[in-house]
Amino acid sequence: MAPAARSGSAIRDLDIAIIGGSIAGCTAAIELARLGARVSLFERSGEELKDRGAGLGVPTAVFDTFIARDLVDAGLPYFPAPAFLRICRTADEPRYGRLAWAQPATLAALNWGALYRNLRKRVPDGVYRTRRQVVAIEQHTVSSVELRFADGASARFSLVICADGYASLGRQTLFPEVALNYAGYVLWRGHMPEAVLPESPPLEVGIRCVGYDGGHGIFYFVPGADDSVAAGERLVNWGVYVAVPPAELTAFMTDKSGRVHQGSLPPGMMPLATEQALKDKLMPVMPDFYADIIARGSDTFAYAICDCQVPAYRRGRICLAGDAGAFARPHSGAGALKGMNDAIALGEALRDHNDIEAALDAWDQQRTAANNELVRFGNQLGEAFVTAIPDWSTMDVTAMEAWFNSVVTIRASYIGERS
Ligand SMILES: Cc1cc2nc3c(=O)[nH]c(=O)nc-3n(C[C@H](O)[C@H](O)[C@H](O)COP(=O)(O)OP(=O)(O)OC[C@H]3O[C@@H](n4cnc5c(N)ncnc54)[C@H](O)[C@@H]3O)c2cc1C
Repeated sequence: MAPAARSGSAIRDLDIAIIGGSIAGCTAAIELARLGARVSLFERSGEELKDRGAGLGVPTAVFDTFIARDLVDAGLPYFPAPAFLRICRTADEPRYGRLAWAQPATLAALNWGALYRNLRKRVPDGVYRTRRQVVAIEQHTVSSVELRFADGASARFSLVICADGYASLGRQTLFPEVALNYAGYVLWRGHMPEAVLPESPPLEVGIRCVGYDGGHGIFYFVPGADDSVAAGERLVNWGVYVAVPPAELTAFMTDKSGRVHQGSLPPGMMPLATEQALKDKLMPVMPDFYADIIARGSDTFAYAICDCQVPAYRRGRICLAGDAGAFARPHSGAGALKGMNDAIALGEALRDHNDIEAALDAWDQQRTAANNELVRFGNQLGEAFVTAIPDWSTMDVTAMEAWFNSVVTIRASYIGERS
């Protein structure tokens, strides 16, 4: 259906609140402010979000659209990843592993912190309010939503966008029946300066994906300190997927001080015994080069891998964006771009419709369908590469392609195209 005539005036009547000041929240603030809306962003953290230093994969074509929209600098450094190199340890190739398949991909590997800083500096002055935790969201009339804050204050807005991450208060408020689905495995992550590596060449091209019984690990360079991409100054980014049965998850997510974490165990909080048990389990199944990277890991961190689909992206004047909406497993490479695209699409819908309700309806239908499909794509990749990964040691390219295409039936433009 063709969009209605562009008016731009309806959006200027809106008083918009955004909850959460990370990737999705900053993008929404930038896009909507540029369209002339009054925007207030409330972030519970007391300071700029801390850079966890880990890497992020974004489809290169999508990254280019972010540059074209002036959401990120044209010169923002990233590593183009033209392939996922699917490898595994064999008796003949104990050090670097046997390459089973160079699966074509078009991904940009970048630093989470660099992307965040690029977005944050584009949020207009006075919009981003720190130390403002929202504790309740309530729609009062057709166009009035009240936010209550942890400090006891409250305020009303004509549109609220919940960009408050995977444990979203907004999602719980709109859809209390929707629960996160634990996938039965965790992602154990770390990073280190390239200078620590005995040799760099094995990581020079593409994203290394090391398969083993029950999971896989990914290893790739991202820009290092000061966004440097110079050889010797990069960061080695790694993550390995390991099964942790649901009954054992609470013990796994218990930190050094005995506190149980939901969702993620931050850097430096993992008990040494947990870290050592992971190393003992994974090092023997990895080619030695990759086992050595894991062995050097300290201050590592972990995420419990979850997913969830949502019935809709809005109810009334309360909307969801980013991980607050449908939440895909990280294999989909969708975390950052999904949140940015939710925000971009919302701005475009409000710009292209004279009527706010019609704009929100069109946006809701499009994002609900697209993002739930992305969740299903992530789940298929999880089955392929973690829960039902076959033994790659005897598979050739033809067998790898056939296996992948039989398990992963949803197509994404940046992965899984036939070579
Ligand atoms: C500090 C940080 C570092 C990250 N580092 C990486 C990384 O290195 N690699 C990677 O792949 N992914 C990383 N992620 C996750 C990744 O950015 C997200 O999965 C994805 O980009 C979606 O972004 P989002 O904006 O939807 O949600 P998130 O990035 O999760 O942001 C949600 C924001 O909402 C705020 N918030 C939550 N509840 C409230 C509330 N009630 N009131 C006010 N504010 C609230 C949070 O403080 C947070 O800033 C990181 C996230 C954060 C917050």
